[in-house]
Amino acid sequence: MIGAIIMTHGDDNGLVLPPKVAPIQVAILPIAMHKEGVLDKATEVRDRLKKNYRVKLDDSDNSPGWKFSEYEMKGVPLRLEIGPKDIENNQCVLVRRDNREKLFVSLDNLEAEIDKALQAVHNGLLERAQANLVAKTHVAHDYDEFIDTATNKPGFIKAMWCGDVACEEKLKDVTGGVKSRCIPFDEEVINNKCVCCGKESKHMVVWGKQY
Ligand SMILES: [Zn+2]
Repeated sequence: MIGAIIMTHGDDNGLVLPPKVAPIQVAILPIAMHKEGVLDKATEVRDRLKKNYRVKLDDSDNSPGWKFSEYEMKGVPLRLEIGPKDIENNQCVLVRRDNREKLFVSLDNLEAEIDKALQAVHNGLLERAQANLVAKTHVAHDYDEFIDTATNKPGFIKAMWCGDVACEEKLKDVTGGVKSRCIPFDEEVINNKCVCCGKESKHMVVWGKQY
């Protein structure tokens, strides 16, 4: 499951964790922390948010830039920046991990804005993963098409199977490791012939290479 999360959602800057499973959902990063009142305000925000979210206030001496990269790499769904100017304006900045969108939000309705942003991250990740799954799932109607797809199009292959283990073994051998990944509850009928031996098929199988 951890491997699947890393590979499905991660990007060139590191992990991207879905909000519902992220150990830290909001990283609170004070800006110009040495200025009077900043750390107090950041602590106040942390204490307020920890009732509803998994939050972390990073008051270490590392620079803001270092902290941005750190929590980006760790896949924290939202970064909350708060500095002297924000405090003056009774606001803070939320930055989404998945698309780096910046939102200036009032501290008055912070929880509502965080809820919205976390939901948006969740939806964005799900949509992207589903689109990727569809784009990488191919259909093979017969043996030649199966071999061609397995060789040239990385991803999953939907194809019919007779139920005989010998057919599965053969496909695995000739393709260098493609085997059955699952038989979905909702089986489509592509045709009525096993993609390997041509005999009557029993199931539609999703095939793929195991890495
Ligand atoms: Zn067969």
